[in-house]
Amino acid sequence: MRLLNRVPRPSAGWRGSMQKVRDSELVRPVPCRCDRSHKTCRRGAPVNPVEITNHYIRQASELMGLGSRVELLLLSAEAEHHVSVPIELDNGDVAVFSGYRIQHNSARGPMKGGLRFHPSVDADDVRALASLMTWKTAVVNIPYGGAKGGVACDPATLSAGELERLTRKFTQRIGSEIGPQRDIPAPDVNTNAQVMAWIMDEYSRMHGYSPAVVTGKPLELQGSAGREAATGRGVVHVVEQALADAGRSIDGATIAVQGFGNVGAHVALLAHRLGARIVAVSDASGGVRHPDGLDVPRLFTEFAVPRRDLAGYEDDGVRALSQEELLTEDVDVLVPAALGGVLDEQVAKDLRARMVVEAANGPTVPEADALLADRGIPVLPDILANAGGVTVSYFEWAQNIQSMRWTEDDVNRRLAQVMLDSYRTVRGLVEQRKLTWRTAAYVVGLGRVAKATVLRGV
Ligand code: NAD
Repeated sequence: MRLLNRVPRPSAGWRGSMQKVRDSELVRPVPCRCDRSHKTCRRGAPVNPVEITNHYIRQASELMGLGSRVELLLLSAEAEHHVSVPIELDNGDVAVFSGYRIQHNSARGPMKGGLRFHPSVDADDVRALASLMTWKTAVVNIPYGGAKGGVACDPATLSAGELERLTRKFTQRIGSEIGPQRDIPAPDVNTNAQVMAWIMDEYSRMHGYSPAVVTGKPLELQGSAGREAATGRGVVHVVEQALADAGRSIDGATIAVQGFGNVGAHVALLAHRLGARIVAVSDASGGVRHPDGLDVPRLFTEFAVPRRDLAGYEDDGVRALSQEELLTEDVDVLVPAALGGVLDEQVAKDLRARMVVEAANGPTVPEADALLADRGIPVLPDILANAGGVTVSYFEWAQNIQSMRWTEDDVNRRLAQVMLDSYRTVRGLVEQRKLTWRTAAYVVGLGRVAKATVLRGV
């Protein structure tokens, strides 16, 4: 067997991370217009996702006067597992991938967060996403902490068998670090119910039957009704409420959605059902636009479900558009629902949407955030807007540990309540303290985690 070493070099941030968290000030990201992961941006200095998340944490912490002791605890991850994941490829070669599970904070309960398969995954990426999960679970007030996982791989180049072996080997590697009362993975970019089923099966071989070790499972394996659409549904609740507060109805509003995977496609479909005009959508292959509104049910059935590239879509009046054109489309609501770091300073200058609702994790860099605030364009942040997924994951876990089943109506009703309650809590701070939506959401999240941390003790 030939040994292929596909492990990417660990980023400089891996070994020195704790030091960096303690010592460094925010390194201001250099604005760029690349439409891919900014880590390989052609315009010089990389945008570091950990520094971006820590910037938002520090901003809220200073405002709240939490002090350096608590702030240090909130910035530091509890554990970082970096594993190599070797598998045998279909042609007999061996490939070794880099895998991560980073557990940020468990003060409020078992840690919770998705698992991502993507070539751009690295320790800093996962570290930032794990931290976001801590604030997100706190903003919606569910009894969890935050974690995240990832494997640096391109699933498009792997067969189903290779993907299964990769998932099972990764689960073996982190199998003693996760668990229903410890850390519960869920789907994220390029992972789905099937991947969760493999993790559940592999973990159950090690520890006995444990459906509650992952969420986002197939319905046949104790998954929850409503989980697949939950993140998109939660985003649409936020869009609907934010438009209503601005004196508009979602019926007739224009929306552009970047990313047409699980989250983006459900946002488009559910908003379309409420009467919104989805004028532009894109995926990694490109974007499509129709000024009168795209045929979203057709796009959902023919492209999102079978995961076909949108670049191949043709219809009367539909024209192709670039990622940049999509992000700067003249619409009521822009919904980034793909990867992080896509709204940089240049996009923020050119942006024409009246409101941004972050379905993706970390789509807006701090410079862009500040610029949009100056321009009076509200940005409903990821830790509020996309929390519907983790909320229904919590419902799934709660059903699993009680061996109960809720109906889809039950799930959707409870989800709507959580999203609206959380939205109103954050809006209260926006109005009373004149904060941006992001700062207000961090203040809510940090406040709850800081209290739990202090009560439990260092
Ligand atoms: P997915 O893999 O189902 O879909 C990702 C989509 O983004 C695909 O359509 C892909 O083609 C597109 N994409 C990738 N690169 C792109 C680019 N450069 N430009 C435009 N589109 C691009 O993933 P998902 O589960 O829908 O997750 C999307 C985002 O939502 C991620 O940021 C994820 O962290 C976040 N999120 C997901 C969940 C969930 O429940 N799945 C929950 C909360 C947040």
